[in-house]
Amino acid sequence: MADTESLYKRKVYLLAQTFFIKDNRDELLLCAHKYDFDIQFFDQMAEFVHTAVQADPEDLFVVDLDVLYNMQLDNNRTMFLGDLLKRLPEQHHYVYLQTEKQSGRFLLQKMLVDNNCLAYAEKPIANDVLVDKLFNLFAQRKRDETSQVLYLGDQVRFDTRLLAQQQVEIIHHPDVQTLHLLVKQTQPDVVVIEDSHYLRTEVIARVLKKNIEVDPSMEIIMLQARPDPTLARRAIESGFDELMLVKDTDVLTWQLLNRIGKIRVNKNLISKDRATGLLNKIGFKKRAQDVIRRAGREEVPLALAVIDIDKFKTINDTWGHYFGDIVIKRLSLVVGSHMLEHDLLSRFGGEEFVMLLWNCLPAAAQERVNKMRLAFGEIAFEVSQQETRHFSFSGGLAAYPDFKTENELFLHADAQLYEAKQGGRNRICG
Ligand code: GH3
Ligand code: MG
Ligand code: MG
Repeated sequence: MADTESLYKRKVYLLAQTFFIKDNRDELLLCAHKYDFDIQFFDQMAEFVHTAVQADPEDLFVVDLDVLYNMQLDNNRTMFLGDLLKRLPEQHHYVYLQTEKQSGRFLLQKMLVDNNCLAYAEKPIANDVLVDKLFNLFAQRKRDETSQVLYLGDQVRFDTRLLAQQQVEIIHHPDVQTLHLLVKQTQPDVVVIEDSHYLRTEVIARVLKKNIEVDPSMEIIMLQARPDPTLARRAIESGFDELMLVKDTDVLTWQLLNRIGKIRVNKNLISKDRATGLLNKIGFKKRAQDVIRRAGREEVPLALAVIDIDKFKTINDTWGHYFGDIVIKRLSLVVGSHMLEHDLLSRFGGEEFVMLLWNCLPAAAQERVNKMRLAFGEIAFEVSQQETRHFSFSGGLAAYPDFKTENELFLHADAQLYEAKQGGRNRICG
């Protein structure tokens, strides 16, 4: 198998007993290859551990708990779950597969989540479902999730180091008169206002929320030094979303982090495509406007590209919708691997993707998108065990500042895409 290693981008290490993978192995591999995964199978603990220690943290590690039944410790004692979990290298997280009987035991789940559990799943699990879930785990990892919290008060009551570790930046701002300007500029996830500052300007929450440019998912929290039901009622009535009582710094900080976690989940649901983990149309439009504004300030050229898979209806009709979905996901991986810092990539819908390339002149855009086109064309899709096929996409380009807004850029690039389709497909126009 050594020569296939470099063929696939992502790697999955699977520790499983032969009886689970014996019948499954080829089909599981076929599924995985469609998603650009390679699976390396292990049935020995020592080998698995040895390989995992040296593996890339981006790789995925799957452990079928049934391996326990075949394993013994050096002193011939049967291996228990605790023994197994202890041996797994600490630096990774694991996907655990368990039987229905195992999953019925709560204590076992507790042990798993206490031991670097990325996710757990119950067997039997269909090959395509397992691979699809693994793909989602990959897609989720790449999220650039940093959040901002604006803090209006005398002194920050949160543990800023803990927040920083969780990619939360806290911006302390002592002046209520200019808070709305800062909110507009930084678009924070949360605004925290100390009760003493609220008392001086009870209208503050409404002022912040009515601004048309403010993200409606932003939350405003009042921090109360001590319980005060009357004040609490007034604050909620005047537009605050949540009240928090000052307590131990770490409890307060985790409370805030949990809120931010929920806000992030909601934002992702709104702005990201579940299947690929990329921005969706809504998420892209919002981010693109920010990028265009910044490009204007810094006088940086941009390129917007629209790409669309050729003859996709035929792909769906010939090999099914599920296979079509895989082609879409593979395209997302190929194009994603060509993105640079500050570029945006989105799945606009169906088999159409839009990207905004930062600091990119038209000639460079043509070259970059063409490279993506060639890379996608190279992929040999295994439509069955004996047969592979290649597919293509067409693209259209538009340049900023020739076109000034996200909408104008899109319309021009889309017209160029139409030209590319008319011109015979598998080409980039613009
Ligand atoms: P062209 O080369 O002109 O682009 O031809 P085409 O067949 O690709 O035409 P078009 O772009 O209009 O077809 C898109 C098709 O993609 C239509 C729709 O049934 C299918 N589709 C849309 N979303 C999805 C999806 O999420 N998964 C799958 N499998 N198919 C989808
Ligand atoms: Mg289309
Ligand atoms: Mg198409």
